Amino acid sequence: MTPEQARAALKKYFGYDDFRPQQLSIIESVYAGKDGIVLMPTGGGKSMCFQIPAVTMPGTAVVVSPLISLMKDQVDGLNAVGIRAAFLNSTQSGSESHGVETAYEDGELHLLYVSPEKLLSPGFFTFLKRRNICLFAIDEAHCISAWGHDFRPEYTQLKRLKEAFPDVPILALTATADRLTRRDMAEQLGIAEAQQFIASFNRPNLSLAVRPGRKRREQIINFLRDRPFEAGIIYCLSRKQTEALAGKLREAGYQAEAYHAGLPAAERARVQSDFINDKNQIVCATIAFGMGIDKSNVRWVIHYSMPKNLENYYQEIGRAGRDGAEADTLLFYSYNDYMTLKDMIGSNGNADIQLAKLDRMKEYADSLACRRRILLNYFSEDHGEDCGNCDICENPPERFDGTVLAQKALSAVARLRESVGVGMAIDVLRGSARAEIRNRRYDQIKTYGAGRDISAFDWNQYFSQLISLGYLYVAHEDFNKVKLAPAARRVLFEGETVELVKMTTIKERREQEDKKTAQRASVRKEKVGLFEELRAVRRELAQQFGIPPYLVFNDATLQEMVAEKPITDAEMARISGVGERKLHRFGDAFMTVIRKHVRREDKASRGDTPSHEASLQAFQGGATVQQIAEQRRLSENTVRGHLAKCYLEGADFDLTTLFRAEAPGWVEEAVQNLPESPGAKDVLEYITGKYGTDALDYGQLHLVNAYRQREAENATS
Ligand code: ADP
Ligand code: ZN
Repeated sequence: MTPEQARAALKKYFGYDDFRPQQLSIIESVYAGKDGIVLMPTGGGKSMCFQIPAVTMPGTAVVVSPLISLMKDQVDGLNAVGIRAAFLNSTQSGSESHGVETAYEDGELHLLYVSPEKLLSPGFFTFLKRRNICLFAIDEAHCISAWGHDFRPEYTQLKRLKEAFPDVPILALTATADRLTRRDMAEQLGIAEAQQFIASFNRPNLSLAVRPGRKRREQIINFLRDRPFEAGIIYCLSRKQTEALAGKLREAGYQAEAYHAGLPAAERARVQSDFINDKNQIVCATIAFGMGIDKSNVRWVIHYSMPKNLENYYQEIGRAGRDGAEADTLLFYSYNDYMTLKDMIGSNGNADIQLAKLDRMKEYADSLACRRRILLNYFSEDHGEDCGNCDICENPPERFDGTVLAQKALSAVARLRESVGVGMAIDVLRGSARAEIRNRRYDQIKTYGAGRDISAFDWNQYFSQLISLGYLYVAHEDFNKVKLAPAARRVLFEGETVELVKMTTIKERREQEDKKTAQRASVRKEKVGLFEELRAVRRELAQQFGIPPYLVFNDATLQEMVAEKPITDAEMARISGVGERKLHRFGDAFMTVIRKHVRREDKASRGDTPSHEASLQAFQGGATVQQIAEQRRLSENTVRGHLAKCYLEGADFDLTTLFRAEAPGWVEEAVQNLPESPGAKDVLEYITGKYGTDALDYGQLHLVNAYRQREAENATS
């Protein structure tokens, strides 16, 4: 097996031109019979690393996966591209599994997916040994380690694999494993020496944005307005929140459903299946949602509130844009959310670690530096430069000397004797006339009204900055009162200067973001016409073949069709994601729609000019028949037909450059020699039979006929 064979299989089955970083090295290592550990982010393309060996190596690849709900999807997806795959797990009837077993024994399967229980069931190894196995792929391999976050006791028995099949390479794949888990994983599987392949966790197609958690519903509805058809997930903290939000969104006219662990299993399955099949646009979910789904065309993910740590956050936003096309993520953040999470962690076993992780999450949300850099840093990856696709990069913050402002705030806190919350401190600074302030005589202190010129909203943000900078802190054990940190002294008494970020830039940023999304949306809307038509075709085919729509073609592939407008098999085959089987099965259905669309567009751009005259205009403008055909997305013969028609209608141009000089003579000869009024087919057969296949074609015959007809008319008049 060679890299060329691997590449050919990638093109033939999946329609992709190139491997992603690491994929080919992993495949080559399998070809060499070596064990390997693969760490790639969700959507990074792990499956390809065992699917390509499976179709290029002799024997069957056995894939062990704990996610039974995913097995069927994966197998359906493989079958749709012409790869022979099947699965064995506890959800099947006896006759179903019997059929699969027979297929395996007959050597008919490229891939066999099994659940760990099935793999370890008595006699199964003996069964497997009846055929040649080229590879064991262990998906979600972190489940084997008690260090990992999804430990599955049944996975620990997988160590028996290497003993029973010492010569078959093992590929352990995971999206989430720290160094310790990874080492443990390798040891448990008996492949401690295996090479580790660690792909970048960067997902550049995901945009990152954080917004203050105020008027969240309103912000969400604004966000959705630009995305009328795009599927997305909104992660909520509580079951109640999922239901309330889904209800509100439905009231606003969106298809939205709640999903949480409290729903009956059948209802959960239905919500999931409707989402996968594009029958429902939005799912408002607790974190339980998304684990077992492979839907690649999730276009956005919103966090209604902040997740507990960056691992969860990254995994959840990772469910967007798995097809590689642009996708947007949005995190709402407020200090209150942080406090709520902090309370939830409380003081249980490993509270310290959890609190530290929560603080890193908060730092991310608070950050005024490129968010992707922070994220990748967290996953021990140095990105080296700002990403250009996060809210901070889109509109970098501007700093100013905020010393006076900071002094006012800190001194207000000091004079209020550190006995009030942030809200009250701001009211005092703004000189509020609230009764409570008068009653407590806060209007008597020196800083009362010293910050009138700044809005309460802006003050809130400045307080957040002072907290992040370590001058103030909120004592949540003492009724969330805002207190002075030791560093505050230096500002109040030792002349330390304080740099703050201008609120105007934050506001401008928000405005710019709105503008940007609106622009993007209008680009999307322009394309919505054809894209929507293609989506409709996709839905129909999906139904017909009993698979989810994204397994017909994913969004990225449809988007490329919208941009390229392929109308021939050759053009269609060049679209990324269109392999041989899918071209054959689905190509025509999509091209029919694209051709119609192109013709409509052409008509619209021509205004009232009839199609054949538009071709003539282009011809008289100096374009060749081939160029006109390409420009107008027509066949060359159609263009020749157009020109012939114009000629017969009396247009004045030299037609004789479009066919060989001998052609009129040949046609004359054919007409003489064939029975009376021969059809075009007979004439053409006569001429190509006698003078060679490239002497004349249909389109040219059209032209010659037009030429002869006008000559004859001229002769008689
Ligand atoms: P993972 O299992 O790592 O979450 P998948 O294997 O499901 O990721 O791949 C995610 C998406 O990326 C799929 O739609 C897959 O077809 C696509 N993909 C994988 N490899 C390539 C490649 N070399 N070129 C283009 N797309 C790819
Ligand atoms: Zn950035």
